[in-house]
Amino acid sequence: MSEVIVVGGGIAGICAALELLDAGRHVLLLERDTAENFGGLAKESFGGIFLVGTPEQRRVGIHDTPELALADWRAFGELDPDDRWPCAWAEAYVQRCRDEVGGWLRQRGIGFLPAPHWVERGLFTPGNSVPRFHIVWGTGRELALRLIDQLERHPQRARLDLRFGHRVESLLAANGAITGCSGVAEENQQPFELHAGSVIVAAGGFNGNIERVRQHWHRDWGSPPPVILNGSHRYADGRLHDAVEAAGGRLTHLDSMWNYAAGVRHPRPRKPGHGLSLVPPRSALWLDWRGRRIGPMPLVTGFDTRDLVAQVCAQERQYSWQLMNRRIALKELAVSGAEFNPSIRDKKKFAFLRDLLFGNRWLYDEMIGTCEDFVFGRDLPELVDKMNALQGDSAVSLDAMRTATESYDAQIDRGQTFHNDEQLRRIAYVRHWKGDRIRTCKFQKILDPTAGPLIAVREFIISRKSLGGIQTDLQSRVLDHAGEAIPGLYAAGEAAGFGGGGMHGLRALEGGFLGGCILGGRIAGQAAAANT
Ligand SMILES: Cc1cc2nc3c(=O)[nH]c(=O)nc-3n(C[C@H](O)[C@H](O)[C@H](O)COP(=O)(O)OP(=O)(O)OC[C@H]3O[C@@H](n4cnc5c(N)ncnc54)[C@H](O)[C@@H]3O)c2cc1C
Repeated sequence: MSEVIVVGGGIAGICAALELLDAGRHVLLLERDTAENFGGLAKESFGGIFLVGTPEQRRVGIHDTPELALADWRAFGELDPDDRWPCAWAEAYVQRCRDEVGGWLRQRGIGFLPAPHWVERGLFTPGNSVPRFHIVWGTGRELALRLIDQLERHPQRARLDLRFGHRVESLLAANGAITGCSGVAEENQQPFELHAGSVIVAAGGFNGNIERVRQHWHRDWGSPPPVILNGSHRYADGRLHDAVEAAGGRLTHLDSMWNYAAGVRHPRPRKPGHGLSLVPPRSALWLDWRGRRIGPMPLVTGFDTRDLVAQVCAQERQYSWQLMNRRIALKELAVSGAEFNPSIRDKKKFAFLRDLLFGNRWLYDEMIGTCEDFVFGRDLPELVDKMNALQGDSAVSLDAMRTATESYDAQIDRGQTFHNDEQLRRIAYVRHWKGDRIRTCKFQKILDPTAGPLIAVREFIISRKSLGGIQTDLQSRVLDHAGEAIPGLYAAGEAAGFGGGGMHGLRALEGGFLGGCILGGRIAGQAAAANT
């Protein structure tokens, strides 16, 4: 019999299993997906990790401390100081991430790009005071593959039983303690029942289940939009959340989610409603369904992702358009994840630098050529016709688009001294940081005849991460409604809201997802090894 069952072969489950093997435990890892997809969402991810006080920060002159990071974290996430476990996990994460996440990964041969990115700077609530988003050289794919490789080569490999195609449905209990789990083998639909001293639930969030996303939609965002694309795992359905709840565990903050505003349909979908999350170009104009600029505060990425979602959801039709030209797209367009960042994913330094300096032609061609939500035109009338054809009516107004573009371009013509537009002010501000200067145009006019063709991208809300989940203490033990640990039951990663049932609060400073899964998975593995 295995000593510990780990449910879920994402990054949290892998880290838990590594710790359990280090402690010499017999581990059974049950994964619903195929062996090919071992690694879960981390393998598809961009691989940005929130770290504090690192060598990469120091090398580029950033002085950062856990105290500063914690103040940012609490403010941005609007954490309630009385919310014990999310606050405890937030504090533990900022204190421990440098060594137990970043240092631990470096020891395993995983490296980062030289300069951290500066994301989520905050808009109406303060965000990251300094850049902290450390990108794995090789993206999340490298991260997952390296750690899987370490499992495979582990000196205790013989103690690890990996079973794919196993869908866990419920937890088994005896005398108030969890003693195993049951489910169904996907291939032959045969039921199984497996027993162990402890079970670690690392089955991810629930944001792959769009009905559930709607059910828990946060009131700040009004009613859920008719189209929500799926940017999560096909099996992130919340089944294990229900199983934990049925076993007496407490679920918290399910309405805290990290969704994005700039989703487009995946050109080669691998699941229903499969979406891609664009990193929206800052120099593009963000327009509503009629082609009017959204405002009075213009939408600009990199400050408050949650607010972008709120603004788009407040529109009469809850999707938006971004208007840009080829020059802006080449320099600024990006897609989150490993799949559309091949130069970083495949560690091709020359291609990476070329894309950075001369524009990402591959991505431009790929998106223009294959994504149905991209349309282009030589001039505004042609573009508006195509936008209306895509949306199936004549809602986009040429006059509105003219007004938006001509007044914006006129501001640029007046010169920086006279810029009186919040988007231009923010572009000037982000360009102070060299990591952003190289990826942000210097006041690019939309209708510049040398920068065309014009491009409009229709963007939907895309679901991504569950910030809430199974409540855990600092040993990743699942807590019941009385706040007592349920013997033999642990949870980690996105299933546990990245720790404590919601360590980010309402907003995440970005990168604490992978980071939280690594730290939480390690802690769960260590605690289960010690207590089993
Ligand atoms: C495109 C993309 C880019 C991202 N970029 C970043 C980034 O740069 N930085 C960052 O911090 N985060 C990023 N993320 C988020 C991050 O990748 C995830 O939050 C994280 O990997 C979740 O890990 P996990 O192990 O908790 O869950 P998952 O990766 O979801 O793994 C859970 C596993 O459990 C399995 N499972 C589910 N249900 C069952 C069941 N009933 N029985 C058995 N097995 C089951 C699933 O098949 C899955 O393999 C990104 C995500 C995506 C999709």
